[in-house]
Amino acid sequence: MAINNKGVRVILGTGGTIAGRASRPGDNVGYVAGQVRVEDLLAGVPALEGMALEVEQVEQVDSKDMHFDLWKRLLERLAHHLSREEVSGVVVTHGTDTLEETAWFVESVLRPVKPVVFTCAMRPATALVPDGPQNLLDAVTVAGLAEVSGTVVVCAGQVHAAEHVAKVHSYRVDAFDSGDAGPLACVEEGQLRWFHRPPAANTPDGRADDLLARVLAAPALPGVHIVTSHADTDGGLVRALLLAGDADPGLRPRGIVVAATGNGTVHRALAQVLSEASARGVRVVRATRCARGRVIPDPANPWPDSAGLSPVKARIALALALLAGDVVPS
Ligand code: ASP
Repeated sequence: MAINNKGVRVILGTGGTIAGRASRPGDNVGYVAGQVRVEDLLAGVPALEGMALEVEQVEQVDSKDMHFDLWKRLLERLAHHLSREEVSGVVVTHGTDTLEETAWFVESVLRPVKPVVFTCAMRPATALVPDGPQNLLDAVTVAGLAEVSGTVVVCAGQVHAAEHVAKVHSYRVDAFDSGDAGPLACVEEGQLRWFHRPPAANTPDGRADDLLARVLAAPALPGVHIVTSHADTDGGLVRALLLAGDADPGLRPRGIVVAATGNGTVHRALAQVLSEASARGVRVVRATRCARGRVIPDPANPWPDSAGLSPVKARIALALALLAGDVVPS
């Protein structure tokens, strides 16, 4: 296994449960996320001693409150460190709640050639058995592997691709899953065991530089909302979005991702309002609300599928496409 131990690995802290602290020792739920500094997390992992590591506290946030300004700051710090020749990879400590969104956002914008490894914990740093230290050690290991390229998530001994990973459990320490694709690999005693051939490495891409510049210059992402198609819906949420946009152009929705039933089907009452939205230039994309599977492409359907992305990742993809001018209003 080619471990690039000579390279510096940078660890960027953003908060989350991995940095959480409870007032009662052993309390796994009544804690405050984003309290322990990233250098103190490292100090709790003796196996990291002697490695060339740099740390930077980007923010201390509960990732349920993740926001665009912090995404921009993280992109800026990642771009800086990844461009340093001596850096082999970057680890980002992050809360589990929106980790899959941030990882997908970073992968979509930066398309990093070097490894960017997100890690997290389901138990706070003060738990009787915190899972953060092992996850951090595994993440630092993966960030030093020459055959890893792009954005991955390391949690509970597994390595997941940013495109497929999702939080699927609200409490268990192995809270992440990659659906039909499965994890890329597992980390065993500092070694990677690949379940698939390592995916093709990202290559340097001028389009990524252009998108990064656009994202950093944008005050906000284009307004893309997620609505769920469910039994007994009347499409009222979409109607409310259109009305809000009529009252204030700043609130006009640019896109709507429908978390559709099954293979991309939409309740007829919701479909009717979505047709009105489309006619008014709102871009509509269908993702499935099913935990597994995708919406199978159907050229006859006026609303494109999400290319296998979950609703939250399809929202990011559509917002970035609108920002880049890659899609025009439908
Ligand atoms: N609310 C926490 C967060 O996302 C949950 C966690 O990290 O497990 O920051």
